[in-house]
Amino acid sequence: MSTPERRIYLDHSATTPVDPRVVEAMAPYWSAVFGNSESAHAFGQAAANALERARQTVADVLGCRPAEIVFTGSGTEADNLALHGVAWAARCSGRGNHIVTTPVEHHAVGRTADQLRDLFGFEVTHVPVDGCGRVDPDDVAAAIRPDTILVSVMTANNEVGTVQPVAEIGRICRERGVPFHSDAVQAAGRLPLNVKDLNVDLMALSAHKFYGPKGVGLLYVRRDTPFVSLLTGGDHERGRRPGTVNVAGAVGLATALRLAEEEREAETTRLQRLRDRLIEGVLASVPESRLTGHPNERLAHYARFAFRGVEGDALVLSLDLEGIAASSGAACAEGQPESSFVLAAMGVCRDWGIGSLRLTLGHGNDEADVARVLEILPGIIERLRSE
Ligand code: PLP
Repeated sequence: MSTPERRIYLDHSATTPVDPRVVEAMAPYWSAVFGNSESAHAFGQAAANALERARQTVADVLGCRPAEIVFTGSGTEADNLALHGVAWAARCSGRGNHIVTTPVEHHAVGRTADQLRDLFGFEVTHVPVDGCGRVDPDDVAAAIRPDTILVSVMTANNEVGTVQPVAEIGRICRERGVPFHSDAVQAAGRLPLNVKDLNVDLMALSAHKFYGPKGVGLLYVRRDTPFVSLLTGGDHERGRRPGTVNVAGAVGLATALRLAEEEREAETTRLQRLRDRLIEGVLASVPESRLTGHPNERLAHYARFAFRGVEGDALVLSLDLEGIAASSGAACAEGQPESSFVLAAMGVCRDWGIGSLRLTLGHGNDEADVARVLEILPGIIERLRSE
């Protein structure tokens, strides 16, 4: 088996490489400035100062107060913290028992809602999505009841890249006095995320999706949102996320978020052009192919296809042998022979759904990468169909 001359990475929604500028910004916080940010001495103060500068940077990008930012160990943890934090607070005050969400959430939200239902007796309503994976805000309004304690709708979907009408859903929740959480893990660095414009009360982000380090995320929690910490321990993060804080990670997240925001418009225009060329080229050259997700309301770097009569996993392996890294769906759903739950919720039948391919572009990609995919992909699909 020959090794491809050049590897092309087209799986930026799974993770991104850390930007060298982020690595540089983090460098002092491993050994030189290593104190515990909770310690009173000078070592601790230096770490605490760096942490609070990072918090301020994040707050500037999100348009919120620094005290409303809680650093976490991942996007998954931030989502868990949001759902459990609000649900437990509601349980303590007897405010209600009902959660509204969608069938296309990442497992970090979907399985957390299931667990709250199955183990803790909460009731969960899933509002439907249309064939493009979009929620209708009117359906959210209709699902809210007097005992609804939380609505959770993701900002952009990780499988198909469909962007939800978050500001409109948030407006409805605000009017009805229901806390609104949005998982913005895939949207960060790609869409404007001013929490006031989006009308969110809670929002989850993860640094490794926008050229920051792995193992650090954050949860925005709007002031006065009823909230109980998931973990118990010390007073870190104002008691909302006890545990010695990963200062280097927080600095990395903040630097990556600032850079992503500064470069967002130019990079969005560039990626959109590449993505549209990719979409047009694939649909024109592969028979029985479709784009899944919304035609316009989609993240600029996302192209997700369905091909009839092909298995997504076989396709991903064949592309990998040619040096192209792609995904058949969500990274954590890999290896499952069934069509993904997201495509199923969108009404994509199994015949098409199992033959799916997600290509997500990023900083390192250029026209030559798109041309290479268009050169290789039609032949691979033809071969797989004939086997
Ligand atoms: N939410 C969404 C939409 C995601 O795409 C992911 C990761 O793929 C997560 C949450 C989980 O983030 P993390 O990998 O930081 O746990």
